[in-house]
Parts: sequence; C-alpha cells; structure tokens
Amino acid sequence: MAAPQKGDLSAAERKLLQVIAAGDAQEVAQLLAINEVRINCLDENGMTPLMHAAYKGKADMCRLLLQHGADVNCNQHEYGYTALMFAGLSGKTEITSLMLDAGAEIDQVNSVGRTAAQMAAFVGQHDCVTLINNFFSRARLEYYTRPQGTDAEPLLPPRLAGPLHKIIMTTNLNPVKIVLLVKEEPALVDPCALLKCSRVMELLCEQCVHQQDMNEVLAMKMHYLSCVLQKCLSCLQNREDRLDSLLRSLLKGRDSDGFPQYQEKFIRDCIRKFPYCESNLLQELVRSIAPVQIGNDPTAFAVLSQALTGQMAFVEGDYCVTCGEKGADKRCSLCKAVVYCSLVCQKLHWFTHKKMCGSMQDPETKAQDTPRLKELKDDESDLVFETANFLQELCMRAEETVAAAGGCPLEMLSRPSTSAQGHPGPRTDP
Ligand SMILES: [Zn+2]
Ligand SMILES: [Zn+2]
Repeated sequence: MAAPQKGDLSAAERKLLQVIAAGDAQEVAQLLAINEVRINCLDENGMTPLMHAAYKGKADMCRLLLQHGADVNCNQHEYGYTALMFAGLSGKTEITSLMLDAGAEIDQVNSVGRTAAQMAAFVGQHDCVTLINNFFSRARLEYYTRPQGTDAEPLLPPRLAGPLHKIIMTTNLNPVKIVLLVKEEPALVDPCALLKCSRVMELLCEQCVHQQDMNEVLAMKMHYLSCVLQKCLSCLQNREDRLDSLLRSLLKGRDSDGFPQYQEKFIRDCIRKFPYCESNLLQELVRSIAPVQIGNDPTAFAVLSQALTGQMAFVEGDYCVTCGEKGADKRCSLCKAVVYCSLVCQKLHWFTHKKMCGSMQDPETKAQDTPRLKELKDDESDLVFETANFLQELCMRAEETVAAAGGCPLEMLSRPSTSAQGHPGPRTDP
C-alpha cells in the first residue's frame, strides 16, 4: 500500500477524525475495524489520528490507536510536530507516558528546531517536561539482563530489572524517597542486588556521557541514583535495621534550626563524585551550590532536582517535608508549619520534627523569614570550611584531567567564583 498522502482521506477516515474530536473510544474501535481506514492516514495538515487524539487529550483513544499500530514517530505534520509534541502540549501526563512507552523519540525537533520537552515547557506543562526528560526505556535497561560477550551471567539478574527501572523513572529525587522505594522492593533489600544495580547504573552513566548526543542530565541522574543505592548497600552491610538508620540520618535536623545537614552533605557529596569533571552540567551545579552555606537556600537538593527534572522544587505546590513528594496535604496538627504526603512520612519525621515543632508554633518564631536562617554557630564552622573547599577540589581535579589530556584549562574552573551571583536565596553574611 502506498504511503498516505496529506488530505487524501476516505469518508470513513474523515469520520474517524471527527469521532476522535467529539466521540468515544467505542466508536473509534468500530471505525478501526473497517478495512479502508488506514491507521496512519493524514489530514490536510499532515496530522494522523494519533496526533489528533493526543492533541485533544484523549488517553483511551491514544491507547487504542497505538494498539492498532499507529506510528508514534510519524512526522508528516506541516510544522514537523510529532504525537509526543501534541501530548506535551495537551499537558496530559498519561498520554505523554503512552507515547514514550510506545517508543516516541524524544530528540525529534519541529520545523523551528524545538523538541517535545521544549514545546511543553513553553506552554507551562512542567509535569510533561519532567516525564520526557526522565524517560528511560525499559528495553535499554534489559540489555543488561542478558549475558554479554563471554560472560556466563548477566550483569543484572532479570528479576531486578523491574524494581530498578521504577527507581530510574522516578521524578522525585529526594534521597529519602529513593530509599523508601528500595525498601518497598524485597528483591532490592539485599547487598548483593544493590551492588549489581549500582554497577549497572554507573555503566549507564558512562554510556550517557559517551553516546553520540551526550546526555549529561541522564548521566548525572544515573550517577546520583547509583550513589543512593551504594549508600543503602553500606547501610545494609553495617546495620540490621533494613535501612531505617539511613532514613533517620537523612531526616535528622541539626539542633540549631532543624536543617537536615547530613542530607545536604550527602547530596553535595554525590555531585562531587560525578566522574566526569569536564561536564558542563557538573560545573553549573557546582557554581550554584558551592557558594551556599549549608542551611541556606538553595539546597543541593533543589539545585539538583531543578537541573535533572526541570522542576523548580518548592516553588509551587506543597511538598512532603519527609520524602519530597508533590501534592502533600497532611499538615502537622500541632505547628501547622510542615506538610506530609502520608502518615508513614509523618511518623518517620517525628523523631526530629518534635524538637522543632514547639518553636514553629510560637508566633514570634514564625514571624522570622525562614526558620532555617540562623546565626552561624561555632560547631558549624567546619561545614562552612568544607563548602569553601568544595569548589577548589573540583578545580584541581578538572585541571588534572585537562593537563592529562594536554588541553587548556577550563575557563570556568580556572576562575573560581566565590560570589553569590545568581543566587536569589537569602544569606547570613553580616
Ligand atoms: Zn512523604
Ligand atoms: Zn509540628
């Protein structure tokens, strides 16, 4: 059969487009059963039925069309739009996921060079942007569930592929959330399994750096997740409490203001350990984080989260103070100052929150800008010192790498900026 021509529609195909716009999935199914209906027919603008369904935000119809073999990567549209682009524009995360699962190419661009993620961002559909930016196909992970070369064993036991893929796809990068995800998968609560998973993640990180279109965002995400898995691994090896002590460490607030400094240091440390110091993304992260004193904004989590998911954490919506999940609506009934996504998260947080809860109820304390900003205490001076060394260490590493490669020093890292430029967060400088 010849390739569909734009605007060359049979009566049944025209009816199909009308039904997609205004009818129900049942009618679409009946029309698809008719022989003369081509699943990838094109209207005058080069839009397929799938594009129409995505644009109209009809998830059930998209599913049906995909089941009938709709081409998810058709790009005959007059401005080069794909079904994924229409999905992103519709703002429907379910449809965006359907397209991604069906193999939609995320790098395809429209006639003015914009990707689906960029188009969705342009119209403010940030949840779709996050989904697209964090997409990683299950097939790519399953490659590691087959023995490669002369290996007798695969790097990743097949039973771990599902649980690990779930972690890779998370758009909430809060370390507490990731540890909770590990904890709820019995197959992962095992040092041997975690070791294998973290190794595969490091390999994926390397692959993302060395592939033709380097994907630094995904590389950093893989590296970060690998760090969290390694942390879980060492906790399991040293403690008998199935990761509870790790959760407590990540949540424990410091005495002065309740700021979770272990978590902050952990995330900074993960970033610092990123093995490719010539990466632009790493340099950006360091520039944003290094000048910030521990306890001030932006936190390492906010910076990392924004870089990897495109979401401005804590700007809109209510986030669970324990696990960072969006849409938390269970307020601490005593202080009303913190919200949780669940009772489990509230219980997890209570051991440390109870020290702050009382002062958060005090109207005088509440009148202060943010409870986090306090005078620097003597016992924190080592943390500040460490932060100052953070950038310097990276500079040295980068220079070594560049010197080894015989190149010239990187401009950014040869001029370490300690100014707080570009950091709108309040500071405690005198
Ligand atoms: Zn939570
Ligand atoms: Zn409270």
